[in-house]
Amino acid sequence: MNIIPIEITPHLRWNRLLIPGLMFLLLVWGAVVAQVKADPPKKAIRVLMVGGGASHDFDRWYKGSDVATLSDKDFADVTYTDKTDEVLSYLDKIDVLYLTNNQPFKDAKTREAIMKFAESGKGLVLGHAALWYNWADWPEYNLKLVSGGSRGHDKYGPFDVTAVNKKHPVMKGVPAKFTLKDELYYHKVDPNGAGIEILATAKNEKPEEYPSVFVVKHPHARIVGIALGHDGESHDLKAYQQLLKNAIRWAAK
Ligand SMILES: [Zn+2]
Repeated sequence: MNIIPIEITPHLRWNRLLIPGLMFLLLVWGAVVAQVKADPPKKAIRVLMVGGGASHDFDRWYKGSDVATLSDKDFADVTYTDKTDEVLSYLDKIDVLYLTNNQPFKDAKTREAIMKFAESGKGLVLGHAALWYNWADWPEYNLKLVSGGSRGHDKYGPFDVTAVNKKHPVMKGVPAKFTLKDELYYHKVDPNGAGIEILATAKNEKPEEYPSVFVVKHPHARIVGIALGHDGESHDLKAYQQLLKNAIRWAAK
């Protein structure tokens, strides 16, 4: 006896699948369009980080840790260099210049271009070594971009960082107070500069306290100073990483 298999005819099967299939595709398409409208893909912030020089492991803590912190989830597109002569060629391709270098900018054109970068309203983040009075032959840097600087620091050791303006976007998600081991910079404000808005102070057992995180009141540029960052005791700290991301985001606007 022949058994005739029961089977849905091809055209019937096609009809059964076509309409639900089309409806499903429409739903997916609608969801994608709604998502794109509600949440356009964010562009990574273009950052040039400049390190290099004495007394610090720039490759480990800046080229390594800080680049990793900022590159997480495409937050920023970071280029690191320790060749200060390369900076000029990047300035028109970046949103934020993050200076941490402990070596001078020898090229006059590069210095000029950095000042112009600031004048044009771009963003700068100045970290640790770059907040020092480092370059005796470039006083304009400390006067105009830092509005001061450090000429000394306490011996490496523990101190408290305390927020004094918790509402500033640079302090968002940063603990109101945290302790770390670092060099406590004796940061002084130059009264001839544009001035700074202190966001957090640094203090140990001694009576003096110093600006640790601040915004420079530059007439055009958005500049954040972070005095912390000698080694991994800061770079590996969640609070430092949050500060750095906030600073880059705020400077990029
Ligand atoms: Zn240091």
